[in-house]
Amino acid sequence: MNIILFGQPGAGKGTQAKNLWKKFGIPHIATGDLLREAMNEGTSLGQEVAPYLEAGRLVPDALVSGLVMERLNSEDCHAGFILDGYPRTLPQVEALETALKEKGKKVDKVVFIEVPLEILLQRVESRGRADDNLETVKRRRIDYKNLTEPVKKDYATRNLLATVDGLGTTEEVFGRILASLPQNS
Ligand code: ADP
Repeated sequence: MNIILFGQPGAGKGTQAKNLWKKFGIPHIATGDLLREAMNEGTSLGQEVAPYLEAGRLVPDALVSGLVMERLNSEDCHAGFILDGYPRTLPQVEALETALKEKGKKVDKVVFIEVPLEILLQRVESRGRADDNLETVKRRRIDYKNLTEPVKKDYATRNLLATVDGLGTTEEVFGRILASLPQNS
């Protein structure tokens, strides 16, 4: 099962990815985590992406796509994967499609976890991550609207998008996610 989790910061993607991992045993690949890890390790990629992360700006497509494709080649992605935070732009959608096609794979479902804006803002505020200040939150919102909304539309057009209500307990939300996934895959 190849799943893309979609939703704004604070929508609960990380929690639900963990639930999916427990249920299906497929790895959770969060591009934000991969990028922060590279930055903390001080690799050359990490040094290259640091200014973007600190400013809350999107990392150039080629860099993030390279990182994701490398990860998808790992043995543990054989039976499937949960992508979180990727693809976030149309060129990233294209890069993913091409890479999966080469492997004879496809995206099974794109799950959009929908949470009202005022709740998202409260959740992000209480998270307190270093790049969660007001300026970067605003910046990320602009990018989301301009670059990521079209990604959502594209998957909707291809009937791959499921919109799930992100309010309620984590168990309730997880139940809705499971119900939205294709059966027998
Ligand atoms: P959030 O959902 O709060 O934006 P993430 O952990 O998903 O947090 O991402 C943190 C940062 O990592 C982003 O602000 C951006 O700089 C970078 N990033 C993550 N995923 C991508 C991506 N697919 N394309 C470009 N940049 C990305």
